[in-house]
Amino acid sequence: MSDLLANLNFPQLQAVTLPAVHALSLAGAGSGKTRVLTTRIAWLMSTGQVGPHGILAVTFTNKAAKEMTARLSALVPINTRGMWIGTFHGLCNRLLRAHYREAALPQTFHILDSADQLAMVKRLLKNLNVDDEKYPPRELCHFINAHKEQGGRAAQAEAYDNYTQKRVELYAEYENQCNREGVVDFAELLLRCYEMLLRNEPLRRHYQERFRYVLVDEFQDTNKLQYAWLKLLAGGGAKIFAVGDDDQSIYAFRGAEVGNMRDFEREYCKTSTGDNIIRLEQNYRSHGNILAAANALIKNNRERLGKNLWTDAGEGEPIRCFEGYSDLDEARFVVEEIRELVRDGVSPTQIALLYRSNAQSRVLENELFTKNVPYKVYGGLRFFERQEIKHALAYLRLLGNPDDDTAFLRIGARSLENLQATAHQMNSSLYNAAASLTGKAGQTVGAFIRLIESLRQETDGLPLPEMVEHVVEKSGLAQHYRTEKEGQDRLENLDELINAAATFVDDEGAIGEGGALVSFLTLASLEAGEHQAGEGEAAVQLMSVHAAKGLEFDVVFITGLEQGLFPHENSVSQGRAGLEEERRLMYVAVTRARQRLYVSCAQTRMLHGQTRYCVPSSFLDEIPASLLLKLNKRAEPSASVPAFGSFGGGYAEPAVAGLRIGMSVEHAKFGLGVIVSTEGRGADARVQVNFGSSGMKWLALEYAKLTPV
Ligand code: ATP
Ligand code: MG
Repeated sequence: MSDLLANLNFPQLQAVTLPAVHALSLAGAGSGKTRVLTTRIAWLMSTGQVGPHGILAVTFTNKAAKEMTARLSALVPINTRGMWIGTFHGLCNRLLRAHYREAALPQTFHILDSADQLAMVKRLLKNLNVDDEKYPPRELCHFINAHKEQGGRAAQAEAYDNYTQKRVELYAEYENQCNREGVVDFAELLLRCYEMLLRNEPLRRHYQERFRYVLVDEFQDTNKLQYAWLKLLAGGGAKIFAVGDDDQSIYAFRGAEVGNMRDFEREYCKTSTGDNIIRLEQNYRSHGNILAAANALIKNNRERLGKNLWTDAGEGEPIRCFEGYSDLDEARFVVEEIRELVRDGVSPTQIALLYRSNAQSRVLENELFTKNVPYKVYGGLRFFERQEIKHALAYLRLLGNPDDDTAFLRIGARSLENLQATAHQMNSSLYNAAASLTGKAGQTVGAFIRLIESLRQETDGLPLPEMVEHVVEKSGLAQHYRTEKEGQDRLENLDELINAAATFVDDEGAIGEGGALVSFLTLASLEAGEHQAGEGEAAVQLMSVHAAKGLEFDVVFITGLEQGLFPHENSVSQGRAGLEEERRLMYVAVTRARQRLYVSCAQTRMLHGQTRYCVPSSFLDEIPASLLLKLNKRAEPSASVPAFGSFGGGYAEPAVAGLRIGMSVEHAKFGLGVIVSTEGRGADARVQVNFGSSGMKWLALEYAKLTPV
């Protein structure tokens, strides 16, 4: 046990070995909060104060939960399998699966991811003949989720004007629709679980008595409902140990409340002999320059609880700063650096590529892929979100739960949409309504229903991988993609789905209540993305800054540091509070780096199909210039390149047909311009040219006559 406590500093040791009290550790990035929390669990168990089943630990991502479990297994000789360590969503899902009847859900309830939820809302508006321009579906989803995150049902929602009144009515319709179909969205997992525990006293007592210690990481990002859920579960005398950092609160847009920390401190941590608040101030993660940059950034925020953070790790390297001509140029630079780092012996898993918006990943992915650098994407459009995978999963979902209309519609195609009116009138699911259709529509639908029924019979009792394989073949999906021109990739993805099912079955302990199929489908919606890269393959880690919370890497690239992108325009338009949240996000990004940090931006960027002209992020100006190393070692810009931003530089790619990035050229129609990026070789070569007032154009060299000037 002395080993367990050996590598802790004094305040950390104090926190780990606190007696059975409520406590809060408020401390900066990299100061050991997660280490303290994990070690405390190990210490509580190894000193016999609690058994594994008396612990409830909440972390923020599935990746963090897995790491915590792995760390625990290394610290104590205890079987951690089956311990209640997970995300709020994951733990609520587990409770609801175990008590689906008490929660008034079908045993095989499916979880709607955000895309499913949006599709469902769109469908609802259409059925109800509601103008979706007046009530944009995305906003409606946000409205519904925001209410749920505050613990509010439609019946309790207040409306002071007609517009809100209508939105509340639509929220109520949405609730009915979800109940009819037996599906739940992300926010519902929590709310449903909370309500179930609140209503059902014996059940609540059971869990209150079971959990003796409730430990929460990243407490600053809990919302009102999550806090209420924790309090409810700890209501039987359990002790809450929470760690957090107000400077890393980055989920205000999802209802997170830094105020929970203050409330928790006031309601739980004050005792007659003082308060159980533990401050950790030494940062063990980052070198001095990185920490200095983070501190310089965050001090521009006004609303802070205030903390000191220092390191004795030495200054380390300066922060490398690069400004590319285009997003492609930026991506090339990043990937070239990565290749050099890997050649120098850095493990790819220790390199993180961070971006503010998931849409940015495509260009980076493309470049990594082209240069054969293995990578893994967390979040964004991922394996389980690809069209063919969603189709296959929809068949599987219908086998498990015929009332799942979202699945029914996905594979039943558009011709079935007229079924919706019937279903709505009958207040039934589409599957049920289908049985009552007659005529031609009835025939098409009938054939579809027969297909599902026969699939259900044929796969009954089959092991999961065979079931998936059978459905992929017999549903006609595989055949469909075989005949499609670009179907090869999709077929490979379908094969990969069968592989995923096989791996899943082999992973003992993964299958929970409801059987293999339900557990597998749950994994697909909850953990989408984590299966994407070959397991065990050393891959560069790509993720949004949000997804990087709590993690650390030797080398971190923060890309797309441009006004409007990072800080993001949506937040900036919300005034100071929005900008401060973006700055906290930047603080999180910077503090992920252990040894080397790159910050980069581009002068032009393709986003959502449009070229944007960019100005470097104001956050770059907030990092003291003395900490920065501006990289332009590769730059060979021509003298006529207009000075867009403050850094100069640019990555000079090898010439394409004698043309280089940065070169000035003339075009018969568009006039004078500057080449900002190049692509392809030979007959496929294309260049992107900034023609000033004539705009940005991609031109195929074979056809466009460009003359260097
Ligand atoms: P974040 O706010 O980013 O979540 P954190 O406060 O949770 O950070 P940890 O991830 O627990 O910080 O710790 C940061 C790094 O410092 C980890 O690699 C951890 O192992 C290391 N570390 C923490 N405390 C010590 C210590 N006393 N001695 C040596 N290394 C430590
Ligand atoms: Mg942490």
